[in-house]
Amino acid sequence: MGPLQDPKSKVVPPVKKEKAVRYRECRRNHAASIGGYAVDGCREFMAAGEEGTTAALRCAACSCHRSFHKREVESEHLCDCSSHTTSSQS
Ligand SMILES: [Zn+2]
Repeated sequence: MGPLQDPKSKVVPPVKKEKAVRYRECRRNHAASIGGYAVDGCREFMAAGEEGTTAALRCAACSCHRSFHKREVESEHLCDCSSHTTSSQS
């Protein structure tokens, strides 16, 4: 018989234990200087660059800083089942 084989251990990539954060609509008031209120209409933050660079903090759509966008933290334990009860029965 052959030699003992090591059980193949799965190579698991390191999982980031970070909370999923989404940045929603831009709320920067472009008319604040004239006492008005006007947002640029950007609906969701999209990083203009790669993560880790300063461009990642800038929105590709409206070029505003990420902090102007509404911040949403997604909780892993959040069960949102009750909001979708319209599954069709067969
Ligand atoms: Zn903006």
